[in-house]
Amino acid sequence: MMKTKIIFLLTITALVLAVVSCPTVAKVADFSAQVAGATGLIDQNTANAISNTSRAIGNAAEEITPEQEYYIGRAVGANILATYRVWNGNPALTSYLNMICGVITINSPKPDVYNGYHVAILDTNEINAFATSGGHIFLTRGLINAARSEDALAAVIAHEIAHIQLQHSIKAIRTSRITNAIMVTGASAAGVAAGMNVNELTDVLTESVGEIVQTLVNNGYSQSQEFEADATALSLLASAGYNPSGLIDMLNELNRVQTSGSGFGKTHPTPAQRLTNAQRTLNQHRVTDTSQYRVTRFNTSVR
Ligand SMILES: [Zn+2]
Repeated sequence: MMKTKIIFLLTITALVLAVVSCPTVAKVADFSAQVAGATGLIDQNTANAISNTSRAIGNAAEEITPEQEYYIGRAVGANILATYRVWNGNPALTSYLNMICGVITINSPKPDVYNGYHVAILDTNEINAFATSGGHIFLTRGLINAARSEDALAAVIAHEIAHIQLQHSIKAIRTSRITNAIMVTGASAAGVAAGMNVNELTDVLTESVGEIVQTLVNNGYSQSQEFEADATALSLLASAGYNPSGLIDMLNELNRVQTSGSGFGKTHPTPAQRLTNAQRTLNQHRVTDTSQYRVTRFNTSVR
């Protein structure tokens, strides 16, 4: 009887340790990032961002708050902007895209996020789009140029909004190598307490955010998540008064112009596969034709 009691207590202790270990590790990483910032080896903004991100990742096993989603998305977004430049060559076009995004989100099940939804244009001819958690959406100039109507453009934005609202990037963090990254970060953070070089810690923390970027941007989401984002995009478009078949138009255009090895082609199923999937659910949505105003808006904003 006594033996059973001891085994029971040991099991409970192991379970409690397993549950508390990640937040504890994150707290250490959080503290170390603040120390690194205070010593001037990384600037205070970077230290705060790392700190907030490690805090958020540390709580991944628990419910992630909208604020944490924002901080994770901001760190990943900052990494995307290390590769691509934001294009501010046409502020009217940027506000036009944000207007489309606003119309879709305000009519969606999740009209608001911690710091609002924002669309930025990336200065590249590559056909690509990224959504990071917390409402950050990036569309490339190449993708915008491939759109032939406002409905098609809205379809691309709706697809990215769907990734955010379905929390695909958060799910990617939960299932990716991020747990290992946190363990490495935690080990190094403990090392700092024992006199380890702070520069090495900074490198490890940077690598951790890099791992998230790798999962979200280079490897892409799973095929079923992409199909789910397309199906959700159709419903978002219909709810906002857009023609859901804009997604079909966009996929047909992508099928024509997209190359498989880069951008969308690298991280998404082929346009042909997505077309088959989207066609299946398209007729569930009412298709209204109120396109005349949108044609004018599109032609003055994009062309
Ligand atoms: Zn996608």
